[in-house]
Amino acid sequence: MNINFNKNNDGLVPVIIQDDRTLQVLMLGYMNEEAFEKTKKEGIVTFFSRSKNRLWTKGEESGNFLTVKSIDIDCDRDTVLIKAVPKNVVCHTGSFSCFGNKVPKGFLYELESKISQRIDEKAEGSYTYSLYRKGINKMAQKVGEEAVELVIEAKDNNDDLFKNEAADLLYHYLILLKAKNISLENIEEILLSRNK
Ligand code: AMP
Ligand code: ZN
Ligand code: ZN
Ligand code: ZN
Repeated sequence: MNINFNKNNDGLVPVIIQDDRTLQVLMLGYMNEEAFEKTKKEGIVTFFSRSKNRLWTKGEESGNFLTVKSIDIDCDRDTVLIKAVPKNVVCHTGSFSCFGNKVPKGFLYELESKISQRIDEKAEGSYTYSLYRKGINKMAQKVGEEAVELVIEAKDNNDDLFKNEAADLLYHYLILLKAKNISLENIEEILLSRNK
């Protein structure tokens, strides 16, 4: 990999560490060429520490190593992005990421919280809330209907209709989860545990 280590005349490039699973940004460090080569060879992140003024393998004291999953270089080859699996916490303050503990959730989680909000605030004129008020049977039935519509569209060759039904199903599925007081995270945990 042809990295420009001398952009800042100090032989260092900034390296962004991102959680391979959640894509959360975990920390930023610097590497010189030696640190970069060592990281590639060992599959464990080693930085060049500007305060220690030496190679620093993240986790060398704490045991909280970063296992490399992928390495990418940016467009003008002066910044490195490493996706890694962290052992325990990453930050020496004890928080999971150097940028705090809040895990970015992505679109589905935002939709889940919007649905939750509509229902909790009893939003008048909201389709979500009006469906919720009809009770669990009605919500479950809607999921069934949307699933059937999706199945029907799967047999056709109209991708637009298929995508719309897929969206309908996801939306109603989230309403049903809310009605059952189950969070998307609960479902994610089950799916992740099956992956082990
Ligand atoms: P570690 O590499 O986890 O064994 O930590 C060794 C030392 O490196 C700690 O005492 C901190 O001074 C420093 N350190 C560890 N993790 C970080 C981090 N995420 N950001 C900045 N400094 C860190
Ligand atoms: Zn760049
Ligand atoms: Zn930190
Ligand atoms: Zn539909």
